Amino acid sequence: MKIHEYQAKQLFRKYDVPVPQGDTSTDRQGVVDIADKLGLPVAVKAQIHAGGRGKGGGVKLARDRAEVEAAADAILGMTLVTKQTGPQGRLVKTVLIEKGVNIKKELYLSIIPDRETASITIVASQDGGMDIEEVAEKSPERIIKVPINPLIGIQGYHLRQVMFGLELDSVLMKSFGKILRSLYTLFVDYDCSMVEINPLIVTEENEVIALDAKVDIDSNALYRHPDIVEMHDPNEDDEAEAEAAKYNLNYINLDGNVGNMVNGAGLAMATMDIIKQAGAEPANFLDVGGGADAEMVENGFRIILSDPKVKAILVNIFGGILRCDVLAQGVVQAAGKVQLNVPVVVRMEGTNVEEGRRILAESGMSLINATDLADAARKIADIVS
Ligand code: GDP
Ligand code: MN
Repeated sequence: MKIHEYQAKQLFRKYDVPVPQGDTSTDRQGVVDIADKLGLPVAVKAQIHAGGRGKGGGVKLARDRAEVEAAADAILGMTLVTKQTGPQGRLVKTVLIEKGVNIKKELYLSIIPDRETASITIVASQDGGMDIEEVAEKSPERIIKVPINPLIGIQGYHLRQVMFGLELDSVLMKSFGKILRSLYTLFVDYDCSMVEINPLIVTEENEVIALDAKVDIDSNALYRHPDIVEMHDPNEDDEAEAEAAKYNLNYINLDGNVGNMVNGAGLAMATMDIIKQAGAEPANFLDVGGGADAEMVENGFRIILSDPKVKAILVNIFGGILRCDVLAQGVVQAAGKVQLNVPVVVRMEGTNVEEGRRILAESGMSLINATDLADAARKIADIVS
């Protein structure tokens, strides 16, 4: 689960990781009041669950009252488009106002789990800031990685490896080391899948401060973090994904135009692979689950069709617990209630497949039958190409 920057910074404060003074507001007057209290200059920052806000105009520095008002007007209510939001962008409802700081150097620091080494890995660079992706691409040697065995935990030599790798000034080592240790503890305590600070800055006064904060918590661990559950912001939920969750459907919105309805996560992944192989792009991942009933299939259709990107739908079902005749009934039921206004390719095999085919054939619907998965992929790719 993602949380906002200001919420991540609340966690940082709890762990004694220095962050700028600041507060949030949802309206212009609130922004002005907070700026007055903090003293100028201030940074006004859009709170959305996506990075790259600076480049998209979602972070502004204000040196006087007029600039504070201008920044509030520009950011509050804007649809912020960044590399991470997709072209539709994200509506900004809240801003964080922070006391401005004098930046001498911008570092990058993050902690992530690394499956390859089965470790918790620290990633750091002395070239932090808004162009970190470019650094990773063009000069990967400027990015250091230090794996930590989670059974041993963070040790002095890990800290030294990171600090020497960053060519950190010796006067900063004590405070940097303390921050890194605290972040590691936070990462473990909160079952994080990511903690990232970009930039972690060194000020003219030689203080080390987290200017940005990104924390992602493993959703499977939320049951033991009620304070994180409370941070959930429904504004940031994908509408279709939230709707799907209501019906226990496993749905993830993607960028392509082939809607998918599949039973079983593995089969869904395989279906997406084969769609891509045929030269098309999936619009979603949808696992209706092994024990789906006709109603779930209908809801699945409705959710897929609510996505305007969808140009065709591929139904790929292996009838096991979900029998083919039940699926077929669901498809017919859905067609009666929602406008099936795109071509639908059906591939099904397994339990009661003959009965399923009969139901579909007699329904009068114009479905496109596929003999096998490869045939299905070819047909769907032909339709959308
Ligand atoms: P992101 O673009 O979504 O990662 O947002 P950040 O919080 O990282 O802000 C983007 C950039 O704005 C940072 O890299 C800083 O250079 C700059 N910035 C943010 N806050 C301040 C501040 O208080 N003072 C100054 N001078 N620059 C800031
Ligand atoms: Mn940042």
